[in-house]
Amino acid sequence: MSDPMNVLAPEHRRLRIGDAWRDAASGATFAVEDPATGKTIAEVADADVVDGLAALDAASTAMAEWAATPPRKRSELLTATYRALAERSEEVARLITLEMGKPLAEARGEVAYGAEFFRWFAEEAVRVEGRYSTAPAGGYRILTVPKPVGPCVFVTPWNFPLAMGARKIAPALAAGCTTITKPAAQTPLTMLFLARIMEEVGVPPGVVNVVTTKRAGEVVSALLADSRTRKLSFTGSTEVGRVLLRQAADNVLRTSMELGGNAALIVCADADLDVALDGAMVAKMRNIGESCIAANRIYVEEPVREEFTARFAERMGALSVGHGLDDGVDVGALIDEASVTKIDELVADAVDRGARVLVGGERPDGPGHFYPPTVLVDVPEDARMLEAEIFGPVAPIISFTSDDEVMAKANNTEHGLAGYIFTRDLQRALRFAEGLDTGMLGINRGLISDPSAPFGGVKQSGIGKEGSHEGIREYLDLTYVAIDLP
Ligand code: NAP
Repeated sequence: MSDPMNVLAPEHRRLRIGDAWRDAASGATFAVEDPATGKTIAEVADADVVDGLAALDAASTAMAEWAATPPRKRSELLTATYRALAERSEEVARLITLEMGKPLAEARGEVAYGAEFFRWFAEEAVRVEGRYSTAPAGGYRILTVPKPVGPCVFVTPWNFPLAMGARKIAPALAAGCTTITKPAAQTPLTMLFLARIMEEVGVPPGVVNVVTTKRAGEVVSALLADSRTRKLSFTGSTEVGRVLLRQAADNVLRTSMELGGNAALIVCADADLDVALDGAMVAKMRNIGESCIAANRIYVEEPVREEFTARFAERMGALSVGHGLDDGVDVGALIDEASVTKIDELVADAVDRGARVLVGGERPDGPGHFYPPTVLVDVPEDARMLEAEIFGPVAPIISFTSDDEVMAKANNTEHGLAGYIFTRDLQRALRFAEGLDTGMLGINRGLISDPSAPFGGVKQSGIGKEGSHEGIREYLDLTYVAIDLP
């Protein structure tokens, strides 16, 4: 197989600003690594504030024309992007695996998921509607007019290098907004490739700008401080989200915040255990556990604890670990050394407090950032991994004996992104749906991400929704017009 880097020519490993692909004004570059080998795979431009503001110039200049572009035309460009991604799926997937580490099958899944946002929002672009009504007391009419909010700044994480950007760019373009995306420094290549694809299908210059940088703090804060920016959408950790919310407050920016999670996955004694096992494997191991909605805590009702644990441990232990581009690999490399160290420390902390390791638990020697699938039992409530985002292939199993007890434990976190419940009792499932403080819940399902559903959290997991009909509203302001008509 050819080198996945061949799809992104050297001239496109630079900043995408307006109609140009250009070097950083300072000429600086930074290295992107393959996390499975630690080897440099590319150098990309390292933007500073000057470059960030040049991207904002381009987005601001393009704004009026893009907002005035007929919705059908915008829709067609999004459809063309969807088709191009579908046609080039293998190339995009290999690039994702190379820079991020996930197995190729997972990367293919991400391309399909990311591309769907373009299809979904191509369909939404032509369905933006206002309202016309009579004021209750008569005498005048009320007209509501949706308008694009304006140039948007997007900051995205490394765990889904394509989809996290697609979830923002597609609805923004559908609504008539222009965009500047700052991808994670560890995975900038996929976003550059997306920008290249969107250039090729004819998206006008200035509508999709991409600024790669190692200086996220400086560049993003300069963008947020500029009054031409009208919206921030961020996906990443709650910690950085808080910082950006404070900065956005100075300009009273519209914000969408997709932040961290700490999902509980609850297996009731009446569950179909085959379904629960499949669901737990997906909810824990999709994306090597490096997902905001990954099952971080697995609660199993006492009567089925032994059977569930034995079967789950067997399946986890059978997964093969290796380079994501190699055949038959289930678990690729984690993103970096810091991530492996954090996970290793969380496992050691749980063991110190009395947990037992059933599978895995030992980081391997050798190059690359690998950690084996790991299952822990007897994990005490004060173990740090029940509070922190594990963000890796480690599953703590905790037993429970009553619904009230497990509901209280599941809700005992600052996060409120996703949860999972496995039971055959509909009323029980609905009581959990009503009682769990999460923005999303899977009932007898471990896979819940869907472009046609509203993705987003409550509590400190975020503000706003991505995908679905709600997704485009994040990019629309509403002007109310009063029309005198006695
Ligand atoms: P992160 O450290 O918060 O970084 C996310 C993005 O923010 C990166 O582009 C990063 O740039 C940038 N950034 C970091 N510090 C910044 C600052 N001071 N000012 C401006 N930008 C800054 O998160 P991550 O480690 O990439 O991603 C993992 C986190 O994302 C997890 O907490 C996960 O739960 C969350 N996540 C949430 C969702 C959701 O939908 N709720 C989806 C996926 C991931 P650099 O790369 O240069 O540091």
